[in-house]
Amino acid sequence: EQAHIGVTGLAVMGSNLARNFARHGHTVAVHNRTPARTRALVEEFGGEGHFMPAETAERFVASLERPRRLVMMVKAGAPTDAVIEEFAPLLEPGDMIVDGGNAHFEDTRRREAALRERGLHFVGTGISGGEEGALHGPSIMPGGSKESYEALGPLLEDISATVDGTPCCTHIGPDGAGHFVKMVHNGIEYADMQLIAESYDLLRRALGMAPGEIAEVFRTWNRGRLESYLIEITAEVLAHTDAATGKPFVDVVLDQAEQKGTGRWTVQTALDLGVPVSGIAEAVFARSLSGHAELRDAAQGLPGPSAKGLTGAAAERFADEVEQALYASKIVAYAQGVHQIQAGSQEYGWDIDPGAVARIWRGGCIIRARFLNRITEAYARERTPVTLLTADYFTEALGAAQDAWRRVVTTSAELGVPAPGFSAALAYYDALRSERLPAALVQGQRDFFGAHTYRRTDRDGSFHTLWGADRGERPA
Ligand code: NDP
Repeated sequence: EQAHIGVTGLAVMGSNLARNFARHGHTVAVHNRTPARTRALVEEFGGEGHFMPAETAERFVASLERPRRLVMMVKAGAPTDAVIEEFAPLLEPGDMIVDGGNAHFEDTRRREAALRERGLHFVGTGISGGEEGALHGPSIMPGGSKESYEALGPLLEDISATVDGTPCCTHIGPDGAGHFVKMVHNGIEYADMQLIAESYDLLRRALGMAPGEIAEVFRTWNRGRLESYLIEITAEVLAHTDAATGKPFVDVVLDQAEQKGTGRWTVQTALDLGVPVSGIAEAVFARSLSGHAELRDAAQGLPGPSAKGLTGAAAERFADEVEQALYASKIVAYAQGVHQIQAGSQEYGWDIDPGAVARIWRGGCIIRARFLNRITEAYARERTPVTLLTADYFTEALGAAQDAWRRVVTTSAELGVPAPGFSAALAYYDALRSERLPAALVQGQRDFFGAHTYRRTDRDGSFHTLWGADRGERPA
């Protein structure tokens, strides 16, 4: 008997994926560099399905039916290259290596090209949903060749999450497309988390609400259009009491947010592509600012505003306004992420369908949310919008939210409560809306000091003004 699929790298993610395949009736070959993990998996969970443990790479490869489907779930970076180098010589043309780790898409492009030369399919695959997702149904974003998806797709769709009967897995596009989309997913996740955190902070500091009360507000929001996994877990975290002190859990946690780097990759890549993902960037910066204890200590004595909180009617309506600001800012964050996916798709020739991406993000992954249906709908129309903001549903939502959104940003400034995510999102919205931008003045400055030239609104061509002489204009 031979295995349908093999998983190598049996730490938490690999074990859970292997179990997920087995629970769906697939025979799964399992392998790990340190064989003790392989034995432990089979001892503990062998009853869940049919596993074929292998202690050596050779035995593992030999146990796979052909064309072989080999999933690797190992540490990203050098270990991934090491594992590829170990297995590639044992494989035959047409075999597939699936990298489900969090690889950088540029590495995936390089690996795919190298393995293609050797006749092998390399399928860089984004997998979101953490440990629980891997076991019960993640959102799966496979790149690589169409041909490889024909052989792999049915197995991956079997183990992915499903929403309304549709699997949260689709072929994203060639080579690094899957890992690119996973990266942007994580960037959006950073932005979404930051916006939710700002909402909490504003409710707490403007209204003096306790964490437990704010948890209730989030629970209410989670029954409406903001319904999502992140809102749901936020309420859980805010409602949690620290057992040791009896204080709200959120008050005993050190307020320095960490990161593993995918948010940073998203912003770095966006800078290279020239895509303004300001909401995602503010979220990454907010985490890094929080970690600068020395700066924050030094700034403790800086003067703040005289206003301390909201009262009266302004206080009454504030929670509702924050909900609107959160929704509007979230739309902007997703619009920026979709723009980045489209720009990457164009740059690398991936032909990614943003509507399909939104569809597979509806379940399994960290940013799963009711609202993603609206993005799928927006891109399912014959004429796809240039930006998500101009899709009918979103234009209406932004229009309805904008007054409240502006008041929330104003209030944050007046009370001295930082809301970089809300402010950046609103500035992006207003910048796109503006008929004229002060970029014209920036062009003038550039031409003045560096003769960088400018284009005119009324004539084609590039021009330079002789700023140091008679200020006459010359074609450049
Ligand atoms: P780790 O990232 O901690 O990786 C541990 C695994 O990698 C072990 O099986 C280990 O083998 C193997 N490994 C490390 N170095 C080598 C090497 N040089 N040669 C062979 N094998 C090696 O495990 P996780 O399960 O947390 O994550 C796996 C991958 O999935 C990572 O790329 C991660 O970024 C990604 N991921 C993780 C998510 C999560 O929520 N944790 C979510 C989505 C993706 P050994 O036992 O012998 O040390």
